Amino acid sequence: MNAKVEISPIRFPVTDYPRTDDVLTHLPRHDPAEQRALVAEIKAELERQDAVLVAHYYTAREIQQLAEETGGYISDSLDMARFGHEHPASTLVVAGVRFMGETAKILNPEKRVLMPTLEAECSLDLGCPAGPFIDFCDQHPDRTVVVYANTSAEVKARADYVATSSIAVPLIEHLADEGHRIIWAPDKHLGSYIARVTDADLLLWNGACIVHEEFKSRAVGNLLAQYPDAAVLVHPESPASVLEVADVIGSTTQLIKAAKTLPNKHLIVATDKGIFYKMQQAAPDKVLIEAPTGGVGATCRSCAHCPWMAMNSLDQLLETLKTGRNEIHVDEVVRVKALRSTQRMLNFAATL
Ligand code: SF4
Repeated sequence: MNAKVEISPIRFPVTDYPRTDDVLTHLPRHDPAEQRALVAEIKAELERQDAVLVAHYYTAREIQQLAEETGGYISDSLDMARFGHEHPASTLVVAGVRFMGETAKILNPEKRVLMPTLEAECSLDLGCPAGPFIDFCDQHPDRTVVVYANTSAEVKARADYVATSSIAVPLIEHLADEGHRIIWAPDKHLGSYIARVTDADLLLWNGACIVHEEFKSRAVGNLLAQYPDAAVLVHPESPASVLEVADVIGSTTQLIKAAKTLPNKHLIVATDKGIFYKMQQAAPDKVLIEAPTGGVGATCRSCAHCPWMAMNSLDQLLETLKTGRNEIHVDEVVRVKALRSTQRMLNFAATL
């Protein structure tokens, strides 16, 4: 491939974020009977309020189970958006991080969109503030702007296309074939991966996911020495050195499909470990192993579990249903602009 790639020197590093173990330590604990009562109450509220729960693969097991048991949905951000758009419920309860709630609202202005917490951010979103990003795009008016779904509504409003990791490569390939030179934001690792596998001319925003950045290729190599038959499954938000040791690189949904179809008994998985719930369901005979994050003697802050995804709890889910708190609102002018780029994502995904 002959990709031309450049990374912007502009950077908004996200360093002040919670540790996942601190977040988890502060969540309320329940004995099994209390947990059952809590789940029953949430189910009754979902029904009473004509609400459906849409959860990301990285949320807690009990939230994913609740989505399954109530006719809701568990998936990646692209399919969450599609499901929420097509489902007839008048309220969408989105368990995930804020941009996912915003995407649901962009697509469904007539629906009420609630989230268990509005404090669940994403380092990619935080690392791409709308003002500087819009200035950056304006400095390169000849480039088509493609942004990852992990961005604010304002950033999506400036974009020509939105993409998720499941369609990023074919979309960029398609645009490059049509002669577009492209700004890709905000994830530089996913952008660098796209550059490796396409011919696109890419200018990359300098953002990263604080969870996937912690995976370490050398430590994966050590684990492979222990499990020589293992296949390595890696999300493309991981650094290039980790992608180099991967047998499969793909979005969360693509990694779950790979877990099912690969012949290997052992699978080393480099993405948020929340995915293990659905991955193990899809591949019950496989042994799933967390890819190492810190390496020997090092520390990790997320330890393969996103601190913001971890903030989604059953207690807050019930609280938001009871009070209507944590509703997502998007300015209508911004929403209409963001809808254009988001709808293009859905339209393109439908052609694949
Ligand atoms: S895992 Fe990374 S990309 Fe996903 S929500 Fe958390 S910080 Fe954002």
